[in-house]
Amino acid sequence: EVKKSLNFIEQIIEEDLKGSYTEQELKFRFPPEPNGYLHIGHASSICLNFGLGERYNAPVNLRFDDTNPIKEEQEYVDAIKEDVVWLGFKWDKECYASDYFQQLYDWAVELIKSGNAYVDSQSSAEIAEQKGTPTVPGTESPYRNRSVSENVELFEKMKNGETPEGAHVLRAKIDMTSSNMIMRDPVMYRSLHKKHHRTGDDWKIYPMYDWAHGESDFIESVSHSFCTLEFLPHRELYNWFISKISNNEDFIPKQREFARRNLSHTIVSKRKLLQLVEKKVVNSWDDPRMPTISGFRRRGYTPTSIRKFADTIGIAKRENIIDVSLLEFCIREDLNKIAPRVMGVLDPVKLVITNYEDGEEWLDTENNPEDENAGTRKIPFSKELYIEREDFKEEANRKFFRLTLGKEVRLKSAYIIKGESVVKDDAGNILEIHCTYDPKSKSGSGTEESLRKVKGTLHWVSIPHAIKAEIRLYDRLFTVAAPDADKEKDFMDFINPDSLQVITGYVEPSLKDARVADKFQFQRIGYFCIDKESTKENLIFNRTVTLRDSWEK
Ligand code: ATP
Ligand code: MG
Ligand code: MG
Repeated sequence: EVKKSLNFIEQIIEEDLKGSYTEQELKFRFPPEPNGYLHIGHASSICLNFGLGERYNAPVNLRFDDTNPIKEEQEYVDAIKEDVVWLGFKWDKECYASDYFQQLYDWAVELIKSGNAYVDSQSSAEIAEQKGTPTVPGTESPYRNRSVSENVELFEKMKNGETPEGAHVLRAKIDMTSSNMIMRDPVMYRSLHKKHHRTGDDWKIYPMYDWAHGESDFIESVSHSFCTLEFLPHRELYNWFISKISNNEDFIPKQREFARRNLSHTIVSKRKLLQLVEKKVVNSWDDPRMPTISGFRRRGYTPTSIRKFADTIGIAKRENIIDVSLLEFCIREDLNKIAPRVMGVLDPVKLVITNYEDGEEWLDTENNPEDENAGTRKIPFSKELYIEREDFKEEANRKFFRLTLGKEVRLKSAYIIKGESVVKDDAGNILEIHCTYDPKSKSGSGTEESLRKVKGTLHWVSIPHAIKAEIRLYDRLFTVAAPDADKEKDFMDFINPDSLQVITGYVEPSLKDARVADKFQFQRIGYFCIDKESTKENLIFNRTVTLRDSWEK
């Protein structure tokens, strides 16, 4: 196997290992906020961090960045864990920023005492106004020089919920003239009298991301804290905060940044995905149209395909949009190897073989030509079959390699048939196609007739044996590649109204025992899996992806 060249994140680590770091010191984390389900962008971050863990045999923590009780829920925590496990990764420790609330509070009091933080009693609008612009320095708050004792006392009152929400915040005292806007006395704490999904009513103040994240890395001795590019200007603050709570002997984590990954024809933002759920554009977070990991799972994607996708796109220093066809390529490639071949007819028309006697016979067919261990199975054949309506034309030009009147085609794993006549209703719709078969042409029989070359092979199901099934055909959720790129418009304006089509199809009887999440190739059509709402009485298939890339741009 050719060794891939190192990406820039791995290069950073290699440089550090040549410098002062030892391999034993390497430690990473994946830090989701439990305010939604993980999406395909997170898969990149998971594969990056856990991939580094595997490469360097280093621990990776799963850290929940649960500092905002308004948006976070236990349901999301559970879903995130399920998704990481499903992708095939194992975390070292399961950590929560909320477990550090007391430590963070104690450190904040220390910062107040060392003159590095103060309670500001202005409104958030006033604070925002004083921030200045990148070229105009900010204005210092009139509360900036409050005495330490007054700050300590007020901060304690905030903590106890004795001051109203919004009356005060705790701010770091850094530099209102800094060229880095993030360094202009950032807020460290706000009052929120809200119940937290883990700490309940214990806290009336909650730390801001910047204050919690780096300190959590420090507490856990994370060596490299990889985050997305928008945090680049926060790096200075990350370092400043850690410098205030550490000393020379301490092991100091470092933040480095990589580009957020975007997928075409969808959105990767938990906040916006939540809107799709709340406005019932989709049915749930794991709706198979969602770009969530759980949505892809339910759609029939495999962990292998998602990891392959993440590895293929790698990581980058600049944002761009990855075309969803690459992800589809990855799932086709995996399912081609592992999915059993079956027959299902989605748009049936009745085919009668006039010279076939009543009764049935069971024919042998291969389960998966790509897998020599997959074996064969029996499928029933009879006088009356369904084929796809689009596989027949009364007359057609020579490029139509399917059934026409007077011409021959093969029925997959069965016989060669010839179109003879049609039965139509008064409106001219075809009700039945009548044909004859060549009894000596049975597939695999080795006869001269069976080896005859005919122009096409069709899939089919035997009508008396077929199982009726609900088939859910999914299409892209958005009609444009970048639905949230246009700042003038709302991403909701680009919803594809035809992203779900539910039809009734007929599948071969071997599928009667198929179980939730089982995956199949419906020959000549695409890959399908059993949906979680499927029952023995009402089989439901999700189309994972068509056999070929047929999207027209
Ligand atoms: P969202 O806007 O969807 O909520 P987020 O960055 O706020 O995204 P977090 O839960 O904080 O979501 O993300 C956990 C980790 O995953 C972070 O390190 C974050 O940088 C990374 N991440 C999030 N979205 C992407 C993405 N699209 N591509 C790569 N990494 C991502
Ligand atoms: Mg977020
Ligand atoms: Mg975040």
